[in-house]
Amino acid sequence: MDVRDLFDRPLSDLRISVTDRCNFRCSFCMPGDRVYRFLPRPEILSFEEIVRLARIFARLGARKIRLTGGEPLLRAELDVLVAALAGIEGIDDLALTTNAYLLPRHAEALRAAGLKRVTVSLHSLDPATFAALSGRHVELRSVLDGLAAAERAGFRPIKLNAVVIRGTNEGEIVDLARFARRHGYVMRFIEYMDVGTVNHWDPSAVVSARQIVRRIDRVWPLEALPPAHPGEVARRYRYRDGGGEIGVIPSVTEPFCGGCSRARLSADGMLYTCLFARTGHDLKTPLRGGASDGELEARVAALWRRRDDRYSEQRTAALEDGGFAPAEKVEMFRIGG
Ligand code: SAM
Ligand code: SF4
Ligand code: SF4
Repeated sequence: MDVRDLFDRPLSDLRISVTDRCNFRCSFCMPGDRVYRFLPRPEILSFEEIVRLARIFARLGARKIRLTGGEPLLRAELDVLVAALAGIEGIDDLALTTNAYLLPRHAEALRAAGLKRVTVSLHSLDPATFAALSGRHVELRSVLDGLAAAERAGFRPIKLNAVVIRGTNEGEIVDLARFARRHGYVMRFIEYMDVGTVNHWDPSAVVSARQIVRRIDRVWPLEALPPAHPGEVARRYRYRDGGGEIGVIPSVTEPFCGGCSRARLSADGMLYTCLFARTGHDLKTPLRGGASDGELEARVAALWRRRDDRYSEQRTAALEDGGFAPAEKVEMFRIGG
């Protein structure tokens, strides 16, 4: 069944957060200067519960699943979940977003289980900036080892995500692009977003996608590419010299709510219909309370049909007319970006 929301957007993409815990403390997501209360184990969906819900989302039109977190590789035996999700009828893309720290241990098993793609978050190539951004004195080397492990396991092309923050890593845009070109990775630059509240986001810290493209284009001329698929959030460019492609995700300066077809399932079984939502919709209670698949499907479909989220468009309009005020929102590490 194809389900559409109030703006005629389909539900084609499901992001599943498998844990709210993380071994990093990135300043823009989960700053290390505070103590976090994580979900108690019984609140977290089991693999069986996740797979059951994923099947229901697939019946409603989801074709793509991305596993995320927190840090998804902290969840024990993630390959077992991957194998089960890979077998769901209708799901033709299964991807993972990770900080890569644990990839040397897990890349091969994940690939063998049916994971199709890996996106690695890499925000800096300078060891000191990297450590400062990711907190907890994480060494850049461990992420580079993770990338190498993903490559050895056969994941290709690997995408890299970098959140660009003014005054922190903005001077590394060209270096990151060069690194990705050299290794055949697809570099994606993400505008720093006001997800959650603990990062104390400030619009002056955003480097616009346009500025990012301009800086790279000065070194290696770029040309725009059409979206790879409907609902694609990255603006894609290819290097005119054949050196590959990059993407920029302009969620703040050029929001793309009109094509947003993403549903997000948190580790405790809440459905979020927007990355910037204040609260989610509880699927765990009916799931554990004996609801049938048909009843769960009807609940998700009803929630999707009344979806009218367009936070980024509203925020950007408010920033332009001076009426922006930070609001309470779910934290990124709970729903996974
Ligand atoms: N821990 C994994 C990782 O970092 O790749 C997966 C979860 S993380 C929340 C998903 C993505 O969100 C990462 O690429 C991360 O860089 C990005 N992210 C986190 N906070 C962000 C923010 N405030 N603005 C833009 N992207 C952000
Ligand atoms: Fe952890 Fe990813 Fe958030 Fe960094 S961005 S703190 S790695 S969940
Ligand atoms: Fe989708 Fe919400 Fe982001 Fe708009 S703000 S693109 S509705 S997640």
